[in-house]
Amino acid sequence: MNGIQSEFPPQLSLIVPVYNESSNLDLFYERVLKVLKPLNVSYEILFIDDGSKDDSLEKLLEIRGRDSKVKVVQFSRNFGKEIAVSAGLDLAEGKAAIPIDADLQDPPELIPSLIEKWKAGYDVVYAKRTKRMGESWLKRWTASLFYRLIAKMTNIDIPEDAGDYRLLSRAAVEQLKRLRERHRFMKGLFTWVGFKQTAVFFERDPRYSGKTKWNYWKLWNFAIEGITSFSYIPLQAASYLGLLVSVFAFFYGVFIIVFKLLHGIAVPGYASLMAAVLFLGGIQLLTLGILGEYIGRIYDEVKQRPLYVIHKTYGFDNPEVQVEK
Ligand code: UDP
Ligand code: MG
Repeated sequence: MNGIQSEFPPQLSLIVPVYNESSNLDLFYERVLKVLKPLNVSYEILFIDDGSKDDSLEKLLEIRGRDSKVKVVQFSRNFGKEIAVSAGLDLAEGKAAIPIDADLQDPPELIPSLIEKWKAGYDVVYAKRTKRMGESWLKRWTASLFYRLIAKMTNIDIPEDAGDYRLLSRAAVEQLKRLRERHRFMKGLFTWVGFKQTAVFFERDPRYSGKTKWNYWKLWNFAIEGITSFSYIPLQAASYLGLLVSVFAFFYGVFIIVFKLLHGIAVPGYASLMAAVLFLGGIQLLTLGILGEYIGRIYDEVKQRPLYVIHKTYGFDNPEVQVEK
């Protein structure tokens, strides 16, 4: 046990995924404390070091040296933010949990309003961005396109412009912990568990320092993850597309036969033949690819690997907290 015995369980667990955030951590901790102190709630801050390659872990341990309410989990390698947040949810003991980014893009100053709504009876209070600062129009446009697409394709209502920054009540956390899928589209999972949900609005600042780990390729994969996690529509689309093409091919076939009977000459058809073959080949590959996306995910799920591997934990003196099913 390090330092003062804190209230157990704490009211609040902050869950902070950390990947190469060394230059943000001190300021992050400082700003969080400034917000938490006057609130007079008991808290723990769970940092999940997601295999950082810089000195983030040393920084975290240094902060923990000053504040025993800071707990640190060190992953054995980089598992990705979704998994890091999930590990945090597994380990959090608070009556409410708040996943929050370490780069100060999720302003800690919003925590009081999240808590307020929670006290008013909401189980999930998500922070909705009104403005996206420091992001290009292309990123904003593709993001909005994605939300519209996913709203059409799934039957869960994922709130637009809300990230992972939100407050989750103990009840919501317990249900989330039951979702052990390997492909974790967190925004979808947060919504899937249901409960009384509401929003709080904020302006998203640019990253304090360092670089985002996102690029368009990752965003594209993220979008595919979201859609395949919650929708079969691409699979169905493949069959409808097949149907459509067959119907077209049938009538085109009839046309060619009739043309031949009437005029007695075969249509010189290299171009149309080529077009049809290539078109069909393309569609077949596309639909195979869609099948592949789903089969790959099924394969990942059936392997039943654990979600993450913890190398070391700092500050979890309750042996029951040691994880993994
Ligand atoms: N992060 C992580 N593992 C990763 C990538 C990111 O734990 O593999 C953390 C990162 O340290 C930050 C949060 O997830 O605290 C959000 O990452 P980032 O700022 O890159 O995403 P963005 O804000 O651009 O969506
Ligand atoms: Mg960020």
